[in-house]
Amino acid sequence: MSEMPQDGAEIKDTDIVFDCPHCGKSLAIDYRGAGLMIPCTDCGKNVQVPIPEGMEITDVDISDEEKEARIVNLRRSITASEMRIKQLEAEVEELTVRRDQLEKVRAENMFRFGTILEKTGSIQKSLEEIAVALHRISESAK
Ligand SMILES: [Zn+2]
Repeated sequence: MSEMPQDGAEIKDTDIVFDCPHCGKSLAIDYRGAGLMIPCTDCGKNVQVPIPEGMEITDVDISDEEKEARIVNLRRSITASEMRIKQLEAEVEELTVRRDQLEKVRAENMFRFGTILEKTGSIQKSLEEIAVALHRISESAK
């Protein structure tokens, strides 16, 4: 985990040092890269450079090109977030349908259970009547 970032390159005080969330490789990037999506030098997956706490975007003197790159990256993240929201909404809908189905099944089972209880009750009653009748028969046989 604590490898030297970017072999040979020196880490400056102004660099943001963080670990790749995919492969754990320690990465260092100039502070002006805060918030940008960059490919990991090790695994090649896109990682977002963390924005150090207390750092304001206005602290950073960035060129118009960098600003534009940032805007494009932000738009990309917004689009990705919007897609994720749509996915989650679809999942919520699916789960709602599933819950309604389960609710229906539960209501049906409750009804069946009630019917079974009723039948059990009348069987119990018949058994008692039979017991009473048998008792009478055995009494009269004496
Ligand atoms: Zn990586």
